[in-house]
Amino acid sequence: MRYVVAIWLGRLAGLLSRWLGRGGGTTMPGVIARRVAPHILTHLTRQLPHGVICVAGTNGKTTTTRMIADVMIAAGWRVLHNRSGANLTSGVTTTVLMGADWCGRVAYDVALFECDEAAVPQIVRESQPRLVVLHNLFRDQLDRYGEVDTIASNWATSLQTLPESTVVLFHADDPSLARLASTLRCRTVGYGNDDVTSARDSVAHLADAGFCRCGAALVYTARFYAHIGHYHCPDCDFTRPLPAYAITQVTSQGLTGSQIALRTPHASCTLQVPLPGLYNATNALATYACADQLGMAPVVAGALTQMLAAFGRYEVITAGNHQLVIALIKNPVGASETIRMLVDAWAAPVQLLIIINDRDADGTDVSWLWDADFEQLCGTTQHIIVSGTRAADMQVRMQYAGVDRQQIECVDGIADALDALLVRATNGQEVYVLPTYTAMLELRAVLTQRGWVAPFWQN
Ligand SMILES: [Zn+2]
Repeated sequence: MRYVVAIWLGRLAGLLSRWLGRGGGTTMPGVIARRVAPHILTHLTRQLPHGVICVAGTNGKTTTTRMIADVMIAAGWRVLHNRSGANLTSGVTTTVLMGADWCGRVAYDVALFECDEAAVPQIVRESQPRLVVLHNLFRDQLDRYGEVDTIASNWATSLQTLPESTVVLFHADDPSLARLASTLRCRTVGYGNDDVTSARDSVAHLADAGFCRCGAALVYTARFYAHIGHYHCPDCDFTRPLPAYAITQVTSQGLTGSQIALRTPHASCTLQVPLPGLYNATNALATYACADQLGMAPVVAGALTQMLAAFGRYEVITAGNHQLVIALIKNPVGASETIRMLVDAWAAPVQLLIIINDRDADGTDVSWLWDADFEQLCGTTQHIIVSGTRAADMQVRMQYAGVDRQQIECVDGIADALDALLVRATNGQEVYVLPTYTAMLELRAVLTQRGWVAPFWQN
């Protein structure tokens, strides 16, 4: 009875907020239902014949989750997925709630949850996933979460309670995840990049997990980005575990994507990744490993070819005569990689808009701007417009990065900043926007008003 009341109240709140146009109603139904029936998530997910799959990580979890969803749909499963990006317990609960009928029956095969780092323990406890993907752990929004070690230890505590039948897929190139996996009693399966030619040398200032538990500094024979690479401890036996699923070769195809060769427990294969950069190659690898564990490896290649960039992380929008390329930036490692991916693909200096907000969902501490490699934009941009609540900080940051003061312009208001960007673009030219999360939402609202993009919950 309690569950039925919770479902009715939650679903009504969802329909009402959608009807009133108050965003997508992606968290409120869950909040309300959980207040009435705290175990509602367990109650509903227990009905799913193929159970729950959780994807956790600092970067790339949205894209990876989308890829996995597309693969499962291609395999014929009915998938409940928190596609709007609401990845706290309330958002996950909302997803299942809105997927249930008024009697609380859930007519889906599986639930796929992208999980916020801090919400992982609770979502795992309540939904008892059959498979968990641990993608990476970077310094991200420290003011909200605390250190990487704390998150890893919270994850470990909750994952240690899962039965032996659970599969935990982990990124073996991330030392904190390899260490975590070694403490679990369920089945752990690693994935990683064996192509050392895709490694870079100097990313020293981005080190997050540079030390072994014994206190020694980890030694890297190859480093892909930040602390992701081939590592070992010089003082004890801690070393990168040999991954069961590995990229053996990455061939970049610029902004359009890359081709990756894979070694798996069964065979070798080649995948076409429709999104650019080494990040996305790794996302595709995790997707393949997950699909193979579920017995759907044969449909991965086809599903990836069909896939478009995950909402907001990287997308191209036609804005009048111009192509607007929007790439989310939210933490130093992700921002540095995103900028590297873009700069790699630029044939000539571009027009750029950077929008930095410091609202709660962005992280209120903007000191991360100083850890991100904005130096790459020096000499690769024609003119940089900065906007958002912390536009002034970004302006100073770009000056320190070595960009000429004359080339940077501060514009208040995202609509005006967008106009200032577009007016500088020559016809048909691609122009670029790097927004933080809430800045991206505001930007999308402006684009929607102008009829250039649909609200995201209609996607
Ligand atoms: Zn050690």
